[in-house]
Amino acid sequence: MKYVDEFRDGATARGIAARIAAELQPGRRYSFMEFCGGHTHAIARYGIAELLPPEVRMIHGPGCPVCVLPIGRIDQAIALALERGVILATYGDTMRVPASPAAVGPPQGAGSPLGGQTPQAPRGQQEGLSLMRAKARGADIRMVYSAADALALARAHPQREVVFLAIGFETTTPPTALVIRQAAKEGLANFSVLCCHVLTPSAITHILESAEVRQYGTVPIDGFIGPAHVSIIIGSAPYAHFAEEYRKPVVIAGFEPLDVMQAVLMLVRQVNDGRAEVENEFIRAVTPEGNLAAQAVVSEVFELRERFEWRGLGEVPYSALKLRPAFARFDAERRFALTYKPVPDHKQCECGAILRGVKRPTDCKLFGTVCTPDNPMGSCMVSSEGACAAHYSYGRFRDIPVVGASACGPSAGPLPSRPAIPLGDRPVYPPVEGQT
Ligand code: SF4
Repeated sequence: MKYVDEFRDGATARGIAARIAAELQPGRRYSFMEFCGGHTHAIARYGIAELLPPEVRMIHGPGCPVCVLPIGRIDQAIALALERGVILATYGDTMRVPASPAAVGPPQGAGSPLGGQTPQAPRGQQEGLSLMRAKARGADIRMVYSAADALALARAHPQREVVFLAIGFETTTPPTALVIRQAAKEGLANFSVLCCHVLTPSAITHILESAEVRQYGTVPIDGFIGPAHVSIIIGSAPYAHFAEEYRKPVVIAGFEPLDVMQAVLMLVRQVNDGRAEVENEFIRAVTPEGNLAAQAVVSEVFELRERFEWRGLGEVPYSALKLRPAFARFDAERRFALTYKPVPDHKQCECGAILRGVKRPTDCKLFGTVCTPDNPMGSCMVSSEGACAAHYSYGRFRDIPVVGASACGPSAGPLPSRPAIPLGDRPVYPPVEGQT
């Protein structure tokens, strides 16, 4: 196949679904985790869950970079912008991730947005802050499309400190490494990075070692759909450990619907054969060794953190990166002597359980009522790759009883705004949304 519309062909998708159904072993159930938020989005958007036989269950994983960013890291970024007067640059989705509550009211004092004062929240007058809301309170927070944009801001404002809040998995790490190396080359004295880059294989290990998987069996995982873009960087080799040590098949897949369908078929075949191997469905982009040049620049600039808190997973050892001592002057945590304080989620938010595969978006009482993409209460409702946002945008129509056309009216109750479009009936080039 050459063109993207061929990867969205409805007849072919239905053919693969029929093959999956034909190859299922009688009485057996199959549970596969799609680690990556890009796949979660594709599954919801293209109605893949409805195409699959009921014996095949897809479990959403923690591979949405915005979703796993803990509140404490957002708080650090907000404090830098509100209290230290830096220009804080970050990607668009990150701007809306809920942070800790803060005082409602206008900024105080001159100079830095709050005159150097920590925002104090009067009892009963707290609202959930976010980078977007901090910006509305006077913080200089800029949305950027790339790490290079953040570096350009530092060049353009030599009198100001510019901090890049860098998030994401292995896909977005190489560009951050490149700008840090470039800043060192140029001798930029006002640029630093608040590094929140995390690692996919460590998170998969953490899931496989979790009590829900190993002890209680509440998250039955027969195999993984491996990430697309991440695997372009790291290659397919790092997943061999999961096949060998944990006997879990991994199939790396692209983000198009036929990629996902084909990956499920390959996983079903591995399970049926009793095999646990790493297979690569996304051969048009992923190689065993990955992008060696990208890996080299990441290794030059970053080293492993001993521990890092993930939203939903808690502290995961050796699961994130920090700047090497040679680049310490570009490390915002050192430069501003930041300390990290873990902050619990909203007590009714089920993001943690959803990110571990234990619950689904509809298990949360706030889903679709208090919490919507316009007013996210948890991180899974922010990015289009988040399980809650994906289900809200494309899947929630399934949760609502179907009513006849004549029943539509003021008393007919809420109707979905964006039902999933059946494959083959949709526009050839629907607008592309972010797939990190
Ligand atoms: S619906 Fe909102 S509050 Fe509930 S789990 Fe999802 S993001 Fe969290």
